[in-house]
Amino acid sequence: MRLEIREFLCLKDNIGVLVYAPETGATAAIDAPDAEPILAALRKENWTLTDILVTHHHADHVQGIDRLRSVFPGARVTGPAREATAIGCLDRQVEDGDTINLGPHAAKVIAVPGHTLGHVAYWFEPDAVLFAGDTLFAMGCGRPFETSPATLYRSLLKLAALPEATRIYCGHEYTLANARFALSVDPRNEALRRRAEAVAAQRAEGRLTLPTELRLERATNPFLRVAEPDIQASLGLSGADPAEVFAALRERKNRA
Ligand code: ZN
Ligand code: FE
Repeated sequence: MRLEIREFLCLKDNIGVLVYAPETGATAAIDAPDAEPILAALRKENWTLTDILVTHHHADHVQGIDRLRSVFPGARVTGPAREATAIGCLDRQVEDGDTINLGPHAAKVIAVPGHTLGHVAYWFEPDAVLFAGDTLFAMGCGRPFETSPATLYRSLLKLAALPEATRIYCGHEYTLANARFALSVDPRNEALRRRAEAVAAQRAEGRLTLPTELRLERATNPFLRVAEPDIQASLGLSGADPAEVFAALRERKNRA
């Protein structure tokens, strides 16, 4: 059977996600930005929260955990070993290469340092779903707060190497702003122009633009396209090392 996934907005632009394994009823929240909308989504489906899979320690990803656990005391909290102290309430610590299960569905833990040092992504390989947290966004990427841009770039390359049909859930609905920035550095990219129009229409109707698909990110996400001559030229870095182009692009986005 396939995983069932629900997503909804939390706080201002965080994405709340529930993942349900129909075989056993196991249900995971991906991060816990805000308990109330997560609890409302659980009630609506009549699902019992069994797991919280934490991607990184930032408050807007963990602040709902205590409240969720007061309602579902059996829920087990899994998160990156490297951020166990910062998160403070992990029942299970994971690192790169570990496998965890939601019912019979296996997920690989992928270390993606950059936005934070211990950031992890959860890849349900047979289901072709990735929960990327604040590492990769639709047409964008997270800010490297705790590592160099080069480290974040290596993490993004790991994700970019997954199968292209992988559906990607991200930590935030930043797509519209990301599309505008992407167009500013890759204006001749037809796929990007079409996508920017499509997401503008989706957002105008109040719909979320996620999940995205890796195939689409490879075609339109400038942070995965730093080896492209057009993007290098728009930054004045033709022929430069992609990691250097990435750093310059990230710096420009920080100032945008
Ligand atoms: Zn964050
Ligand atoms: Fe965040």
